[in-house]
Amino acid sequence: MHSSTTPPTIGVLALQGAFDAHAKALTSLGATVRLVRNPEDLADLDGLIMPGGESTTMLKFLERGSFFDTLATFVKEKPTFGTCAGAILLATHVEHPAQRSLCALDITVERNAYGRQNDSTILDVQTEIPGGPLEMVYIRAPRITRTGANVETLANRDGFATLVRQGHLLAATFHPELSADTRVHQLFLDMVAQQPR
Ligand code: GLN
Repeated sequence: MHSSTTPPTIGVLALQGAFDAHAKALTSLGATVRLVRNPEDLADLDGLIMPGGESTTMLKFLERGSFFDTLATFVKEKPTFGTCAGAILLATHVEHPAQRSLCALDITVERNAYGRQNDSTILDVQTEIPGGPLEMVYIRAPRITRTGANVETLANRDGFATLVRQGHLLAATFHPELSADTRVHQLFLDMVAQQPR
């Protein structure tokens, strides 16, 4: 367990996408933030957030050198939160179209599942997190079409899981960093605090 006096150091994958808003949310909750641009930046982190953006573009950066393999090892052991494109990277199965992933979180994800008409929206959704409905910002969002037996669903959108947890892994198909509400980031920091350092 963490000592309450030492803030955890959380990495934010900063190859592309919405990393800055995640860094601000984490800092506001007292965490120390390190932007992760190289595999070496993962060393000694207490946890990692993989932001939204374009998962195909992130994959291109990750497939240079040893970054993909180092990250795949990291996410097997250390608390990691994937939002939107980051959730796609964490999944065991990616469809529409299929693409390579870190195969850590036992879900099937359908990319860009809401089509062009309805691809971005803001909803207030009831979740398992106390404190009332949560604002969820969706941008060209994926849909979780299958959750494995060890995956806990913390919120649904239209009957599909939209916030899920499996042990030390958390994933959201929306962008919690774009809302003022920091409950999802706090949930992740609570998961980090439960890990042995
Ligand atoms: N459509 C993006 C992808 O497939 C994800 C969108 C997002 O992260 N907001 O990677």
